[in-house]
Amino acid sequence: MLLTITTTIRPATDLGFLLHKNPARTQSHELSFGKVHVFYPEATEERCTAAMLLDIDPIGLVRGRKDSHGSDGLLAQYVNDRPFVASSFLSVAIAQVFGSALGGRSKERESLAATPIPLTATLTALPCRGDERLLKELFEPLGWRVRATGRLLDAKMPEWGASPYFDVELTGTKRLSELLSHLYVLVPVLDGDKHYWVAEDEIEKLLRHAGAWLNTHPRREWITHRYLRHQRQLTALALSRLADDGDPDEVALEHASEEAAIERPLSLQERRMDAVLERLREAGARSVVDLGCGEGKFIARLLQERRFERIVGVDVSRSVLSRAKERLGLDRAHSAVAARVELLQGSLTYRDARLSGFDAAVAIEVVEHLDPHRLAMFARNSFAFVGAPVTIVTTPNAEYNSRFEGLARGRLRHRDHRFEWTRAEFRAWAESEARRYARSVEFHAIGDEDPELGPPTQMAVFTSMEKRT
Ligand code: SAH
Repeated sequence: MLLTITTTIRPATDLGFLLHKNPARTQSHELSFGKVHVFYPEATEERCTAAMLLDIDPIGLVRGRKDSHGSDGLLAQYVNDRPFVASSFLSVAIAQVFGSALGGRSKERESLAATPIPLTATLTALPCRGDERLLKELFEPLGWRVRATGRLLDAKMPEWGASPYFDVELTGTKRLSELLSHLYVLVPVLDGDKHYWVAEDEIEKLLRHAGAWLNTHPRREWITHRYLRHQRQLTALALSRLADDGDPDEVALEHASEEAAIERPLSLQERRMDAVLERLREAGARSVVDLGCGEGKFIARLLQERRFERIVGVDVSRSVLSRAKERLGLDRAHSAVAARVELLQGSLTYRDARLSGFDAAVAIEVVEHLDPHRLAMFARNSFAFVGAPVTIVTTPNAEYNSRFEGLARGRLRHRDHRFEWTRAEFRAWAESEARRYARSVEFHAIGDEDPELGPPTQMAVFTSMEKRT
C-alpha cells in the first residue's frame, strides 16, 4: 500500500519540515505489523512528494500479537488475508510516523503547519466497499476534489469484473494536519474491516482526530457508525460526546508534568489540595465528586480522611483514569478503598446521572482545559445537574504568570490550557454563573499573594442558596 503527498508551495521541500522527515533520506520504521518506509520520489523547490510505503508482514502480525496487543489474544480472530491493501494499518502508520504532523505541530515551520497549502494525495489500492460515489460523499464535503479509478480483479480477466479496490487522488488546499486526519478516520471507514478490536478508547481516537470536522459532515453518523464497527452503544456514546464535547484530553499526562514543574517551587499543588480540603471539611461534606479528577491525586488525599465516605472521580481521558486506578490501588484484589471510591469515564459538559446526589463537587484546575464555548455547558452541568450544595472551582490566575521562572512571557502554564483568567475575568464568570444558578460565591487566594498580581491560583466556592435558608 502506497500513500503519496505532494505540495507545490514554495519552497516545496518545506514538506519535509512539516512531516518531520528529511527529504534527503529514506527512513524506515518498525511497527507492530511490519515496516513503514518514508521517502521522497521528488524534492525540488517547485514540487515535493513524500511517499509512505506500508510493508506489512503477515507472519509477524500473528506472531507479535500477544506482545503488541496485551494478553487478550483477540487479535487472532481479526488477522486475515489483508496485508496488501490500505486499511486501518495506514491510520496506525500515520499516527506513529507522522504523529506531530497529524497533530498540526511543526517545530521549524509552525505557521506553515497552520496554513492551508495546495496538496495532492494519492492512495494506491484503497479498499472501498462501495463505489466511487461513496468516496466522493466522504471526501468532497471536506473540501477535496476526488478522482477515483476502479481496479479490475485481474487485469487479464476483465470479465471477472471490478475489484473493491480503487486508486484515489485527492486534491485541495488544506492544512497538512487536516489531510492526515481525514485519511486517519476515513480510510478505515471505507474499508469497514478494521484489523483490531474496537474498544471504547477508539472513541477517544475518533474524537481526537475528527472532532473538528466530523461534527458538520453530512455523513457523520454513518462514519461514526462504521468507524466503531456498528457497536451501537459505542456509537451512541460517541455521538453524544461529539454534540456536547469534542475534546478528550489524551496528551494530559505529558503536559501535566510540565505544568507541575513550573509550579513546583511554590508547592502549589499541595496548597491547592489543602485549600479545597479545608472548605470541604467546613461544609461537613461526606460525599464528594471530583470533576476532571486526572490521575487521582486529590482522591488520594480525600481517602486519608474517614469522613469522606463516598468519592467519585470523573474524567474524560482513559489514560489518566487508568493511572488513577493504579495510584489508588483500585485494581488490587480486596482493595479496602474500593468500597469508598469509584472512577468514571465521562465528560463534564453533558448530563450524567451518575454525578448527582453528592454533598460537594470540586473541579480543580479543570475549567481552563475546556474550550470557552463549552464553559456554559460545564456550568449548567455542574450547577443544574450535578447540583451539589457546595461546588469548588480552582483555576490559575493569569496575572501571576510573569512571576514564574521557566515560563516564557505570554505563555500559558500548560499546553492544553485553552485560556487562563485574570482575577477580574474569573470573578465575572463565577458571579454570573452564580446568579444564573442561584448560588452565592466567595473567592479565595491560594499560594502567597503578590501585592500587585495577586495569588498564583484562585478559588471560587459556590454555595447553593437553598441550603443556606
Ligand atoms: N483535577 C486534576 C487534574 C487537572 S488537569 C488535578 O488537579 O490534578 C484537567 C483534567 O481535566 C484532565 O485530566 C483532563 O483529562 C480533564 N478534562 C478535560 N476536559 C474534560 C471534559 N470535557 N470532561 C471531563 N474531564 C475533562
